[in-house]
Amino acid sequence: MIACECPVCTSDDKRDNRLRSSILVQSASTTLVVDTTPDFRYQMLRAKVKHLDAIVFTHPHKDHIAGLDDVRAYNFFTRRPMEIFANEMTQEVIIREFPYAFADTKYPGVPEIRLNTIAFDAFTVGDIPVQPILVWHMKMPVLGFRFGDFSYITDANRIDEAEKEKIRGSRAVVLNALRKEAHISHFTLDEAVAMVKELGVPQAYFTHISHQLGKHVDINKELPAGMELAYDGLSLTI
Ligand SMILES: [Zn+2]
Ligand SMILES: [Zn+2]
Ligand SMILES: [Zn+2]
Repeated sequence: MIACECPVCTSDDKRDNRLRSSILVQSASTTLVVDTTPDFRYQMLRAKVKHLDAIVFTHPHKDHIAGLDDVRAYNFFTRRPMEIFANEMTQEVIIREFPYAFADTKYPGVPEIRLNTIAFDAFTVGDIPVQPILVWHMKMPVLGFRFGDFSYITDANRIDEAEKEKIRGSRAVVLNALRKEAHISHFTLDEAVAMVKELGVPQAYFTHISHQLGKHVDINKELPAGMELAYDGLSLTI
């Protein structure tokens, strides 16, 4: 956190050094990113992502969409609009926040994006199957996604029974866990641990972690077997 001198923010353990929450999902032929955080540009530079086929959005909060402008680099190299997958609520905010990308007469070099609407049905991006999962972020519906045997849920504090079924059977799940203290729209660490147990997914990683949670090395020790804190640069092969 900017200007914070807490033990997490001043830690020299790289795993305590977090940018905003996002993942990259890659198959043999397709690469997609979930959300474009305010750190999107640096995340793509850091991970040396040369090619990006699509962006899939969870919800329209600023920490999940703010970096969208920087798709222009991919537009430049591919000479194609970026494929965006989002529900209608998120699309409305994207159009409002990036009006210049939707203008009739566009300034040269603005991001070029093509909107695809996510409803409740599964869809594919290239050869990657995507099953949307509806979760609740206080009152806001947020989309989680299941990609084959891997599920990614962020910014939730409640999941309806029917949607839990869509996650069950995954080999690995990423779930948000903000901190230990209660929060109105995010799972606490205890709530996230309980949700993983309820879902019965054998391997779980926690994300969207606040500096208030504590140091990676300390918190990881407290977690049950099969659960750990995610960290920037964590890579999984499923
Ligand atoms: Zn801090
Ligand atoms: Zn949010
Ligand atoms: Zn968020």
